[in-house]
Amino acid sequence: MTLDSLSRDQLESLLAEQQQAYAELQQADLSLDITRGKPSAAQLDLSNDLLTAPLQDTKVDGVDVRNYGGGTGLPALRSIFAELLNIPVDQLIAANNASLSMMHDSLVFALLHGTPEEAKPWKDGPVKFLCPAPGYDRHFAICEHLGIEMITIDMLEDGPDMVAVREHVADPAVKGMWLVPTYSNPTGAVVSDAVAAELAALQAAAPDFRIMWDNAYAVHDLTDEHVKSADILGLCASSGNPNRALVFASTSKVTLAGAGVSFLGGSPENIAWYLSHTAIRTIGPDKVNQARHAQFLGSAQGVLDLMARHREVLVPKFETVQRILSERLGDHGVATWTSPKGGYFVNLDVVDGTASRVVQLAKEAGIALTPAGASFPYGRDPRDRNIRIAPSFPPLEELTRAMEGLATCVLLAAAEKALAA
Ligand code: PLP
Repeated sequence: MTLDSLSRDQLESLLAEQQQAYAELQQADLSLDITRGKPSAAQLDLSNDLLTAPLQDTKVDGVDVRNYGGGTGLPALRSIFAELLNIPVDQLIAANNASLSMMHDSLVFALLHGTPEEAKPWKDGPVKFLCPAPGYDRHFAICEHLGIEMITIDMLEDGPDMVAVREHVADPAVKGMWLVPTYSNPTGAVVSDAVAAELAALQAAAPDFRIMWDNAYAVHDLTDEHVKSADILGLCASSGNPNRALVFASTSKVTLAGAGVSFLGGSPENIAWYLSHTAIRTIGPDKVNQARHAQFLGSAQGVLDLMARHREVLVPKFETVQRILSERLGDHGVATWTSPKGGYFVNLDVVDGTASRVVQLAKEAGIALTPAGASFPYGRDPRDRNIRIAPSFPPLEELTRAMEGLATCVLLAAAEKALAA
């Protein structure tokens, strides 16, 4: 029975039931963590050959990988990801272990030095960014850190709310937007070809409007169906806005999260722009790690085969999350959640005004959740209802206990709120 169909007496007995369940949870002395979307040890083990297999040759593509230089990254590695990301290889740079740092640097370069279209540095005027939410908290942290004003817009099932996007890009201070196009963090949404085409062709008042197309989960399917990302660079080029999109990706959740390789794709002009600035910052990327990755992965098919093995580890965890949410919350009308076909997260929306309470209750019972509101700019969820579940890291047994505990906290907070009304 849904909570809103219960009488006061029934609500009171539900509250007592959940208080009892919560007291038992507290006595269990748990220490569980479903905060961040990190790969588990079992997933990292899939790439242990990166640590142990010797490099077949120190010369790759005619370059001594041990030495300085080679700012664009090794072609042998770039060609593998060019195929997967559907980007011409000469428009794709390979770099070090974190695509997030390439996103950060791109914005710093634009702020300090302007862009190919606009020599005037962004910092010389107001800079605003559209932030589809729920979204990735670290994108928002970059904006906050760099003084870029964030405008929250809704992330829908096929991409950002285009009505809001159209309205805001009429402001020349709106210089760009974040977007995780495939299996977005945290909702699992996939940007449709139609939305991508509209974004590419959009009339933006800023001549150098940028889409930060963070394709972190491009190959992270949780089913046998491979979802292809929209060809944003092609769409931007054919719409007469070739420089609009910067594409980011990495092997953080393919090989080793702390020691993978990252990629930046863009128009020839954007690639030259990025390289001109990054050449001041570094004498070249870690090509030894790039060579190790090219050798270990072998081909685009090699990457997809490895992802199929990740899937074997991840699917039982995502199924467990779905099962517990349905069994424990399904009948009560106190939450909705996503069933993503890929990526790393399940997005849980609880009763409005109770997400912070749920996170607090969970914390006091030894279950660490991502702070309520984390998936929104400035950490502010206007409805205080959003919770991001990251099932990948804990072993299945710990995840099961954490989810059971979370369900108790969701029900307890919902019953408290219903009785307080
Ligand atoms: N982008 C998104 C959407 C993510 O969810 C994450 C990690 O959780 C990252 C980027 C981090 O990528 P990297 O490890 O390449 O910096």
